[in-house]
Amino acid sequence: MNIRDFTFEKYDRLLEAAGENGYDVLTVADYLSRDELPERYVVLRHDVDRKVDIARSMAHLEASHDVRSTYYFRTSTFDPEIVTELEDLGHEIGYHYEELARVGGDIEEAYDRFEENLAAFRRHVDVRTACSHGSPLSSHLNLDMWQDDRPPAAFDLLGEAYLSTETDDSDPDELSYCSDTGRHWGMVDPVYGLVETTDDLIELLEVGSCPQLYVLAHPGRWSRNRPEFVERVAWDLAAESGKQAVKPVHSIQQRAGTFSGALARTTARSIMISRQLLSSRK
Ligand SMILES: [Zn+2]
Repeated sequence: MNIRDFTFEKYDRLLEAAGENGYDVLTVADYLSRDELPERYVVLRHDVDRKVDIARSMAHLEASHDVRSTYYFRTSTFDPEIVTELEDLGHEIGYHYEELARVGGDIEEAYDRFEENLAAFRRHVDVRTACSHGSPLSSHLNLDMWQDDRPPAAFDLLGEAYLSTETDDSDPDELSYCSDTGRHWGMVDPVYGLVETTDDLIELLEVGSCPQLYVLAHPGRWSRNRPEFVERVAWDLAAESGKQAVKPVHSIQQRAGTFSGALARTTARSIMISRQLLSSRK
């Protein structure tokens, strides 16, 4: 593991590399609504699971590069003042929903709560897309709440971040998905090879073999300064040495990583169905 990775310094270089190598950065709503997509682009998404202040700094750093991305907030991380500030910077605010897990799998109850929470978000900002939160401690997959008669479009949403995006890392004509879950990118490009570190990802943009990328960066995994970096490293080292106080948390994180990877893979199967659903409701 490259422990010097996932710093704002690296993130700054990643944003710079995208611009220098001709990649347009798109929000999820941009990606879903544009009639024509650019030749090279990165769909950039952030799941704000925690650490809202880091998300805010990330949003400002992106704006300084003239980059707009999508920030998905949970009900627990949604702060009206901060989301309004991010929207004013040009970013998209989306809903990182987790109702099905929270209500123990009751789909009707999940819809009611989803509708309420979405309306609460919309009192402050425009919300055009939603994104499932991986609830690792629940046996219910939040994504499973979507049904034929209640697609995201029924809630005036353009789409869902997993369901409405089709990814295939092995095909350069398709969108390739990479996520910082597990503190490594873990994507394989057929030309470049394994993309693990942010330096690899920067090189991938320079090589240019992957013209369409879908990047998920969790703000909570990145450090803005040395104290935050030291905190992350200490946390990782403690987890590795098996200290009892930290290990259970670490294993939960690992599960979350596996879960989200599996989620990305399994959702590919439901995409065609969802696309049909969405297009039949246009
Ligand atoms: Zn999440």
